[in-house]
Amino acid sequence: RPAMLEAGEHVDTQCPFCSVQCKIRLTKNEQAAGERRAMYTVEGIPNKASEGRLCVKGMNAHQHVISSERLMQPLVRRNGALQPASWEEALGLIADHFKAVSEQYGADAIGLYGGGSLTNETAYLLGKFARIGLGTKYIDYNGRFCMSAAASAGVKTFGIDRGLTCRLEDIPLARCIILAGTNIAECQPTLMPYLTRAKENGAAIIVIDPRMTATAELADLHLQLRPGTDAALANGILKGLLRGGWINRSFIDSRTNGFPELERHLESVLLSEIAEITGLTESQIEKAAELYGTAETGIVFTARGVEQQTDGHEAVRNFLNLVLATGKIGRPGCGYGAVTGQGNGQGGREHGQKADQLPGYRLIENEEDRKYVAGVWGVEPDRIPRKGVSAYEMMELVHQGVIRSLFVMGSNPVVSNPNADLVEKALQNIDFLAVADMFLSETARMADVVLPVTAYLENDGTLTNLEGRVLLRESKLEPPGETRHDWDILCELAARLGKSAYFTYASAEQIFEELRLASKGGAADYYGITYDRLRREGGVYWPCPSEDEEQSSGILFEERFAHPDGKAVFLPVPSRQPQELPDDNYPLTLTNGRVLSHYLTGVQTRRSPSLAARSVDNFAEIHPRTAKKYGLEDGDWAQISSRRGSFSVRCKVNAKIRENLLFVPMHWGGAQNVNKATNPELDPNCKMPGFKTAAASITPLKHI
Ligand code: SF4
Repeated sequence: RPAMLEAGEHVDTQCPFCSVQCKIRLTKNEQAAGERRAMYTVEGIPNKASEGRLCVKGMNAHQHVISSERLMQPLVRRNGALQPASWEEALGLIADHFKAVSEQYGADAIGLYGGGSLTNETAYLLGKFARIGLGTKYIDYNGRFCMSAAASAGVKTFGIDRGLTCRLEDIPLARCIILAGTNIAECQPTLMPYLTRAKENGAAIIVIDPRMTATAELADLHLQLRPGTDAALANGILKGLLRGGWINRSFIDSRTNGFPELERHLESVLLSEIAEITGLTESQIEKAAELYGTAETGIVFTARGVEQQTDGHEAVRNFLNLVLATGKIGRPGCGYGAVTGQGNGQGGREHGQKADQLPGYRLIENEEDRKYVAGVWGVEPDRIPRKGVSAYEMMELVHQGVIRSLFVMGSNPVVSNPNADLVEKALQNIDFLAVADMFLSETARMADVVLPVTAYLENDGTLTNLEGRVLLRESKLEPPGETRHDWDILCELAARLGKSAYFTYASAEQIFEELRLASKGGAADYYGITYDRLRREGGVYWPCPSEDEEQSSGILFEERFAHPDGKAVFLPVPSRQPQELPDDNYPLTLTNGRVLSHYLTGVQTRRSPSLAARSVDNFAEIHPRTAKKYGLEDGDWAQISSRRGSFSVRCKVNAKIRENLLFVPMHWGGAQNVNKATNPELDPNCKMPGFKTAAASITPLKHI
C-alpha cells in the first residue's frame, strides 16, 4: 500500500459516514498541485446498497483523512497541557494507571466507552478487552443513543434485532411506505431514489415528522405531529386499521401472539383523544390507516425521531404492531426497517461492546451464552464480569466517582451525551481519561493521554450495513505518521496488563476469525462469513451459519419469527404524552437531529473544508410566529435553555416547523452544543435518553 496516491492512481473504498456504506472510487488528479480540495476526483461505484450513488458526505469523505489537523503522534498531559510523547510513554501511562486503579478500587473503577463507527473487529475486541483485558463490567458505547430502542423492540417483538427485515431492493415493491421520525433525504441520501421509484410504481408515502423535511416533501401524507407522541399516533392508526377491517386475521392467528390483548386495549382508544395528543386531525390519522391498511405491500421505517424518546422502545413496538396486524412482513415489498445512522450502527451493536451483550448478540447474563463465549476466549465463565450500565449511566457513575478512569475509543461523549454540562464536569474531575481518536475532539482535549488512530482508508475491517449485509473494507493507504490501528492499541495495552495470551492477533482478519466462532449459533451468526467470501461475493447477509451454504435472500421471517415458538409478539402500548412537557418557565419544546453535511458530533466533517463550509455554525429552526412572539428575526442569535443548561445559536426562521418547537442539530460542541439542554431521562426498557423532547425557553441574546 502506498503512503499516498500518485497522480492518476485510484483506490476503491467505502464511505464511513452512514449505514448505507456506499462504494467510492477516489482518484488522485494529474493536475494535483496546490489546492488540497481539488486534488482528488470522487465517484460512486455500484454496489448492492447504493447502486453507485454518493451524497455530499461521500463525495468529500477523503478530506478529513488528509486534514492537517490529524493527530500523528500520541499526546500526554504535562503541566496541564497536552504534549507530544512516544507510544512507549503513552501506553505505559495508561497501563500503569489501569493497574493502579484496579488494585486500589477494583476493576470496576475503570470504564470503556466505544462507538458505532468502529469496525466489527474493533467493537468485538473492545468488548473482550473490557471483560478479559481489564475485568471490568463497565463498557457501553454511543450506539446506545442511536439504536437501543429499535434493537430492544425488535428483540421483544420478532425475537431478533436486525435493522431491516427486508432488502433495500424491496422498497420499490412496497405500495405504502411509512417513514416515522426519519429524514432519509439528509441522513442516508442515496436511499432516496428507492423511495422515488416506489412512488413512481404507485406507492403512497406517509411521513411522520414535526418538521417539513426534504424527505417529507416527497410525502402523499405528512403527519406533522407534536414531538414525542409517536406511540399515541400508532395507536390511532391501529384503531383505524381495526375500524376499516384492514387487518390480516389469518397472519395474526398463525404467526403471532398477543393480538386479543391489543384488541382489548384498542377498545379504549379514542381517535379524538389521539388527535388531541398528537396535534393531528382524526381524518389525517384515518387516512394513514387507510393508505397502509389497503396497500397490498408495505414497509414501515423508524429512526431516531421515534426512538430517542423516554418511551422509544414502546413507540417502536407500536409501529411493529402495525406491521404484524396487517401481515406485511416476510415477503417481497414488505417489512420493517430501523434506519441506522452510524457507519457500523448495525455491526457495532452485535459483538459485545454493549453493557448487556456478548458477541453474536449473546446475553451476558445468560449462563449458556457466558459458557460458550468463555470457551472461545479460553477462560472460565466466571472470568466474564456481569452486566454493566448504559452509556449515560456510565457518565453518571463517573460524576459520582464510582468510575475513576475512562478509556474512550471512536466517540466524543462530552458532546453526544444528553445533559452535556454534567458530563463535562464529570470528565473534568475524573482521575484519568484516555482517548483514541483521529482528531483532538472536544473529549480528547480533556484527556490525560490521547492516542492517534488510523482512518478508514488506512485500516482493514468489516462493517455491517443497515440491511444486515456484512461488507469488507480493506485498507488502501499506509498509516500516516505514528498512527496505529484501534485493535493494535488494544492488543498492546492487553500485553502491558499481562493478558497478551488472549490478544495474539496479527491482523484484523485474525480477529474476525475469532469473532466468527464467538458468534456461531448466536442470533447474529457470522460463522459462514470469511474475508475471502466477502471479497468474492461483495457482501453477505447475516445470519450466515455455514461457509458452504448460499447466503440468505435477505428477507427475514418468511416462515417463522425468531422466538422459540416461531411467533411474533404484540404489545399494547399506552398513548403517553412526552415525559417533559412545556410549562410557564420553559414554554417551548426542543428537539435535535442532523443536517446533510455533518456526521455525529462533527469531529470529522467539521474538519472537512467542503462539508464544514455548507454548515459552519449551529442554528435553531423556529416558526415565524414563534420567532415573532420572542422578538426574534432570521439570523438573530438566541440563548436556548432547559432545566439542564443553555447554549447559543443563530435562528433560522421558517414555516416548515411546528409552532412552539425548536429544532437544533447535534453536530456542534462547546457553546453551540444542543445537548447542554437535552433530557437525560432514560427509557426504562433500553436506556435511551429522551433527546427528542425537552421543555425549553428562548431569549434573544441582545436582551441578555
Ligand atoms: Fe452513502 Fe451515507 Fe456516505 Fe452518503 S453518507 S455517501 S449515503 S454512505
